[in-house]
Amino acid sequence: MKPPELPLTFLPGLGSVRWPEAAIDNYAAALDVAHRPDRSRVGVRWRWRIIPRPVLQSTHCLLCELDWPCPAAAWAQWRLSSYARQTLSDAV
Ligand SMILES: [Zn+2]
Repeated sequence: MKPPELPLTFLPGLGSVRWPEAAIDNYAAALDVAHRPDRSRVGVRWRWRIIPRPVLQSTHCLLCELDWPCPAAAWAQWRLSSYARQTLSDAV
């Protein structure tokens, strides 16, 4: 008898795969570690060259250099949070 086929899941950076849930969660955890925001969010602009004025700079991903949160990090955070929710609800 043939084992049941795993569902097709789209993973950022890999495309569509048929992986077990645990492998997808491991991939999400690896993406969450790899894709990090640039922490230098506040910069200074000078008005008339004498008055400092703080400005918020746009944050980028250090790995893929897209605006933060980049699609890979957003997906990983969504995946990990939904996994955590599911684990909590299973424990109750
Ligand atoms: Zn990224």
